[in-house]
Amino acid sequence: APSIVWLRDDLRVADNPALAAAVERGRPVVVLYLLDEESAGVRPLGGASRWWLHHSLERLGEELAGLGGALTLRRGAAERSIPSLIEETGADAVYWNRRYGAARQTDAALKSRVIDDGLEATSFQASLLFEPWTITTGAGGPYGVFTPYWKACMNRAEPREPLPAPTRIEGIAPGGDALADWTLLPTRPDWAEGLRETWTPGSAGAHDRLEEFAEEMLADYHRRDEPDLRATSMLSPHLRFGEISPFEVWHRIRYGLSAAAAKNRDKFLSEIGWREFSYHILFHHPDLATRNYRADFDAFPWTTPEDAELDRWRRGRTGIPIVDAGMRQLWRTGWMHNRVRMITASFLTKNLQVDWRTGEEWFWDTLVDADEASNAASWQWVAGSGADAAPYFRVFNPELQAKKFDPRGEYVHRWVPEVGTDEYPEPMVDLRESRQAALDAYEAVSAAR
Ligand code: FAD
Repeated sequence: APSIVWLRDDLRVADNPALAAAVERGRPVVVLYLLDEESAGVRPLGGASRWWLHHSLERLGEELAGLGGALTLRRGAAERSIPSLIEETGADAVYWNRRYGAARQTDAALKSRVIDDGLEATSFQASLLFEPWTITTGAGGPYGVFTPYWKACMNRAEPREPLPAPTRIEGIAPGGDALADWTLLPTRPDWAEGLRETWTPGSAGAHDRLEEFAEEMLADYHRRDEPDLRATSMLSPHLRFGEISPFEVWHRIRYGLSAAAAKNRDKFLSEIGWREFSYHILFHHPDLATRNYRADFDAFPWTTPEDAELDRWRRGRTGIPIVDAGMRQLWRTGWMHNRVRMITASFLTKNLQVDWRTGEEWFWDTLVDADEASNAASWQWVAGSGADAAPYFRVFNPELQAKKFDPRGEYVHRWVPEVGTDEYPEPMVDLRESRQAALDAYEAVSAAR
């Protein structure tokens, strides 16, 4: 009887333990991707992520076909679709790589059901170097602060070596959907031009990025806060969709670097650590994208802006050049430099006093790396409501940030060419006054506790 491999956020053939286990078993393999927008705990993908998913699945289908396999596309709730695929194909084993957000409830229920039916269901560790429940404080609980968390991780055994890709897959392909019928790509207007120019979705593109980064950019990683310098890896969407695994990244960066690159190695690996930490938090707080991690923020008096005002932020027309540059980079390329993500998020939540959830939703829709853990955790971190968050009184001053990290204004000029002309809008708020208003609001809430 065949085996089913159910792919989710692990769109790769190399270092894919679920796929490797199925191939090893020596029976025909059905490789399934299910577009599930119905199950509890799954959040429908935003527009930029749908664009990415389309291309990623296309590449993966080609790779599987090259190995003798095939990718089957289906749509529907996992709790119905998986059992019906089992019945249809007569499969007696299902393999998947674990996920760590709220959707893991679906996986757990399905696993018991398959096992109750006398079949095999096995899940694997593939997307995180350290599974969330394995890292605990001395008292046995979860961590809420990054530095001791990452130290505890670094005291564990080194992450395992990546697995090689199978050399051959004996695939079978029961009927499924045509990718084009999912209409994941934008039609009119076609907003994806900048995405196409910036990215190569798929595992090959991911490995090219990693190689280029290790060889050329890691040596400049100590300057990673300068948004106009290509000093970071831009691996985030590839990691998000699992086109490359953190184990592959870890082992490539850990060894075999030039001396200049090796100096920055631990700093880079600790950023991979922030991704792990975000999942650690999400695992223990599955509603991280909708609920304040720190409950004292529930009383915070967020303002409710007019849509037109919010649009000035979304479209990069706030009149604050570094904020507008970031928001335009995001809209155009589906990605924004980390430093500028912090500045734009701080501007929204502090200077405009808009609820972080509003910003999180916009990023969710527009980022190609929109990630259920990192996006929510980072927004809460900036807003001050999150784990190990920047204290609320630390309001980023966008002008000082720009002076420090974009001193020649290269980043701003690249994204906001009209800055300094009559076409460029006046600031939508006074930075000093709005900063003070945010601090006063916070004071009032913390005093009332
Ligand atoms: P690099 O510096 O090359 O880092 C390597 C990898 O480490 C990244 O690809 C990413 O997987 C991980 N990483 C780096 N920094 C962080 C971080 N602070 N938190 C979690 N993981 C990190 N990252 C996402 O992957 N998805 C998101 O949806 C997301 N939303 C964010 C929202 C806000 C408001 C902020 C401030 C940050 C957000 N980040 C998010 C974190 C960070 O900005 C991006 O991971 C990073 O900019 C990606 O660029 P890179 O791959 O070149 O990073």
